[in-house]
Amino acid sequence: MLQEAYSADAFRTQAHHLVDQLADYLQQAQSRQLATVIPYRSPDENLAFWRDDFAQGSGDVSDFFRKVIDQSTHLHHPRYMGHQVSPPLPLAATAGLLSGVLNNGMAVYEMGLVSNPLERIISELLARRIGFDENASGLLTSGGTLANLTALLAARAAKAPGDVWQHGSQERLAVMVASEAHYCIDRAARIMGFGDAGIIKLPVNEQFQMRTDLLDAYYQQAAADGLRVIAVVASACSTSTGAYDHIEAIADFCEKHDLWLHVDGAHGGAVVFSERYKPLVSGIDRADSVTIDWHKMLMTPALATSLIFRRNEDSFRTFHQQAQYLWSSDADDWFNSGKRTFECTKLMMSVKIYTILKAYGETIFAENVDTLHELAGQFAARVRQHPNLELAVEPQSNIVCFRYIGAPVSELNQINTTIRQQLLHDGRFYIVQTTLHGQVYLRVSLMNPMTTMADLDALLSLIGSLGD
Ligand SMILES: *Cc1c(COP(=O)(O)O)cnc(C)c1O
Repeated sequence: MLQEAYSADAFRTQAHHLVDQLADYLQQAQSRQLATVIPYRSPDENLAFWRDDFAQGSGDVSDFFRKVIDQSTHLHHPRYMGHQVSPPLPLAATAGLLSGVLNNGMAVYEMGLVSNPLERIISELLARRIGFDENASGLLTSGGTLANLTALLAARAAKAPGDVWQHGSQERLAVMVASEAHYCIDRAARIMGFGDAGIIKLPVNEQFQMRTDLLDAYYQQAAADGLRVIAVVASACSTSTGAYDHIEAIADFCEKHDLWLHVDGAHGGAVVFSERYKPLVSGIDRADSVTIDWHKMLMTPALATSLIFRRNEDSFRTFHQQAQYLWSSDADDWFNSGKRTFECTKLMMSVKIYTILKAYGETIFAENVDTLHELAGQFAARVRQHPNLELAVEPQSNIVCFRYIGAPVSELNQINTTIRQQLLHDGRFYIVQTTLHGQVYLRVSLMNPMTTMADLDALLSLIGSLGD
């Protein structure tokens, strides 16, 4: 069986067949021939479906591949506008097949002869786009969540008193962040042992941006409570509403108090590629570290995240433990990427990103960012014109929150929740919802550049009639 399973001929046949299946699928999804974006069934129904499939025993996998395609949410459908995951470029997914077969992504140079140099080239490119000088570089890691944790570990190594890595923390450490920040910041702080008190959440203004005018007061209060603040995390942008915090103001505050500034640009940091939208992250070049997900607005299959440090040497202080069987020296060697990443074995993510750069150049990133942001602006204008719909806030990014208001205020939460449920079961569009100030809003992230105003008008007309 092993001989047969590793057979190159079988691979040739199966992979060709899968590529044909996927090409047909892409064609149907992108042309809207596929009737539904999400083939929604309840978790129990789906579990029963797969239990039944499993009970049928082993056999032809092309039938399994077919089912996986059919039963998945279709990100390449132009009416997909739910969570912030990109419909990946087919060519980048093809590079995923390449890296899946080679499997050379590892922490040590000898097991990542290609992926480590490519990772450095990509990190330096992104560092330049952020506006950092040649001292900056960074690494790729498995997702924004892990990148943010890694950044906060570096912040602790740089700013906490004593050597916390060696001796544990002698003080009660804390980070400051807006209440709208992604939940992974809260999680990272708790993983680092900061506890509930160690995650200081600042309120947001009516644009859902951090109230930077309150930074000083919260900082003084934290000090009075016996907390030692080490870092501030700016969201660029926030997840719920796509609001960009004022990085310049936060950077001024961090400079004044010698704090680490981390910019969580997992979603919106991609604007550094766009001349037009780069001003949204003005001041990002004053950050100590920046997270940017390639699998959100940058069209790479998940997971692929850059963590860039203004001073590259900071990245080597994060996990400064010895692993003699892996590393022969203590040096800051860029080519052993595992010295700076949480992962030991990791994906060859750089190959997918580099493939996009090779095939299309950086302009494709700018084009995608511009297209998605402009689409959101036009969509918001349509919402504003609709008599029974209202925006939660003017969108700054490609995320738009709005709700149906053609009913008494006391019923709106129920009605908007029901609209979203009905859309989910209907399946012709995929959008999500969020709660802001206790009010339920429908939430659209425009992730697919093939989405048109006609798609968005059809969505609004369906929502309007469901609401009525
Ligand atoms: C998506 C997102 C994250 C989490 O990133 P993953 O890649 O999903 O782990 C963190 N912060 C922000 C602002 C995000 O948009």
